[in-house]
Amino acid sequence: MFQDHQGPTFDLRQTLVSTPSSEHARNWSAYYTSETHLAGQGWKQAQWTHAKWREFGVTNTTISSHDTQLPLPTNEQRVALLRGDQVLYEAALVDTNVSAGFVPAYFGFSANGNISGSYIYCNFGSKEDFEALAHRGVKVERAIGIIKLGNASPYVREQNLSIFRSLSVANAERAGMIGVVLYTDPQNDGPMTEGNGYKPFPAGIARPLEAIERGGFGNIADYNRGELPTIPSIPISTVDAIYLLRMLNGHGPQAKQLGDRWQGGGLEYYGVDYNVGPSPPGLSLNIVNHATLRDTQVHNVIGTISGKTLDEVVIVGNHRDAWGPGAADPASGSAALNEVVRSFGAALQQGWRPERTIIFGSFEGEEFAQIGSLLWITQHFDWLRASAVAYLNVVVAASGTHFHAKGSPLLYSAIRSTTDGIPWPDRNQTFAGQSVLDIWGGEITPAGSGDANRFMSIPCVSTLDFGFSPALGEPPLPYHTGFDSFEWMDTIGDPEWRFHVASAKIWSLVAAHLVEPAVLNMSVADYAVAFHKWLGELPDRSLWSSRVNLTVMTDAVERLSRAAGRFDGFARSSAEEYSECTRSWWKFISPIKCRRRFAVRDINKVYMEFERQFYYERGLDGHNDHHHVLFSPSAWHNSPPAMPSLSKSLKAGDWKNAQVRNFSQPLLHCVNAANWSSDGEIS
Ligand SMILES: [Zn+2]
Repeated sequence: MFQDHQGPTFDLRQTLVSTPSSEHARNWSAYYTSETHLAGQGWKQAQWTHAKWREFGVTNTTISSHDTQLPLPTNEQRVALLRGDQVLYEAALVDTNVSAGFVPAYFGFSANGNISGSYIYCNFGSKEDFEALAHRGVKVERAIGIIKLGNASPYVREQNLSIFRSLSVANAERAGMIGVVLYTDPQNDGPMTEGNGYKPFPAGIARPLEAIERGGFGNIADYNRGELPTIPSIPISTVDAIYLLRMLNGHGPQAKQLGDRWQGGGLEYYGVDYNVGPSPPGLSLNIVNHATLRDTQVHNVIGTISGKTLDEVVIVGNHRDAWGPGAADPASGSAALNEVVRSFGAALQQGWRPERTIIFGSFEGEEFAQIGSLLWITQHFDWLRASAVAYLNVVVAASGTHFHAKGSPLLYSAIRSTTDGIPWPDRNQTFAGQSVLDIWGGEITPAGSGDANRFMSIPCVSTLDFGFSPALGEPPLPYHTGFDSFEWMDTIGDPEWRFHVASAKIWSLVAAHLVEPAVLNMSVADYAVAFHKWLGELPDRSLWSSRVNLTVMTDAVERLSRAAGRFDGFARSSAEEYSECTRSWWKFISPIKCRRRFAVRDINKVYMEFERQFYYERGLDGHNDHHHVLFSPSAWHNSPPAMPSLSKSLKAGDWKNAQVRNFSQPLLHCVNAANWSSDGEIS
């Protein structure tokens, strides 16, 4: 039973790193980006993906379809500047080839409405921005906000100005505004702007001014429960923003007088002075947003390679739906996933069979709060809770040279050791001979991105998400716009397709790292180290340290640290004994030693169940989709910190909530439960 089925010459690693190719990745990208694959319109690409995976050798591939409702815009969308009945300006609201079925500008799950009023420039629409406007005496009530999007830019993130689109709109609503238009300012792109001499794509690398950044707010349940902003909002192009902002020149204070956060807007080159307004008397901005909820289906493609152990499962997935062509988000991930499936297919053809089961998932509906993976997870909830080892996710596999990873500490060692063995894919000689880990450095942020959010927060499965995105100084990714196209990827994003290939190799190897060894290659000790780090990063310590006592928590983490070290040590020594036992299968086997096989199953169970200990039945802050007490997806933040609820309570000065009532206790309970399980008697 311990024989090596694939024979002495088969090398799984070699197959996984030698199969992916630039040519294949480029072909898959050309297909996925060629026509619409907005959520709800993905049947054709699902069928194509299904056929490909079967052709690659993963014959147990099916399409899992689910009924849902998704909002689609009607052709009543409008952003127009009026003087009386006269239309001074009408925004195009289209930056894609609509004849290929791509959708015009809208935000998924934004409120509908038809409103008119004066308008005011509100910077990024943060709480601080509205406080600054109030402080300056600018009345924003009953006006419309013109706000910069600042979620997907490394420059905005570096300056701590990053804010998720739905939070900007919620803040505007709280301040009394009646609607919002959002646009992408060249500030997002650092020096890579037309003003600095870079020609816009396709002539050059700068972001085209016509680009419109779409996106989603919250989810269908939040929408139906009325928990999302109730004022209409719509994305516009930079061209349209330039027109509207120039009309504010000379009206109201200048943005730079409102504080540091208000510096750095990049439209001076186009004649914008960044006055905040309000807009001159007599002018009225009309916004019409009208999307209707349509009954539709999303189609997940699910491929299965059954392992020798059926009830330990590693899931490898990506989403397929996009706002426009979606070359980076998500076709780079989908193309890499096809290469991963093709690589494992090649291994199967050589007679290989994995120790554990691998499932590949191409999910539809990530851009609408991961509806496709959510429905699939809900359908398989009990089985996932019992059997899932990990979910390995990639949204954007390639679009620059900045490697990022987000994940559960149980998987830190998997991604670090894997990237250590993959050469840096750039041809840049400065990095010759260096690995992806050498350049990346190994920094991992809290879990949760795209579909990984759902695997983590509903059944509490350990997740990992990684990929390559633009670094500072690299061409901006026209994220969620009509310009995230095959041409952009082929000439600017990843012209040699080497980063697609590198992502595919890393993804396959992380999967193999978790699928193959008899004892799971995970570490509980890394969890204890991460806990120390997160406790040290809790915000505004000087404000709460005298009021909130976290000693019980830090003591629990100390105990966890000790128990985890012991458990990992035990797991590693059992793995060695087990491999010795299986290596000598043809010799006499001591029955006692080979009873280790059963110990191995118990050890693996502890690793798998460790993450489940952070499941909080009632849901975080009463949210019935968010059960992981350490990581939480959010309609208001793209990358929440670890322990988000505790962090939020401390930040808000809600000491009672932080200390006792809502959060500390569940978190502590989970840490203690995790302690118990990792300290349990295993032999
Ligand atoms: Zn996206």
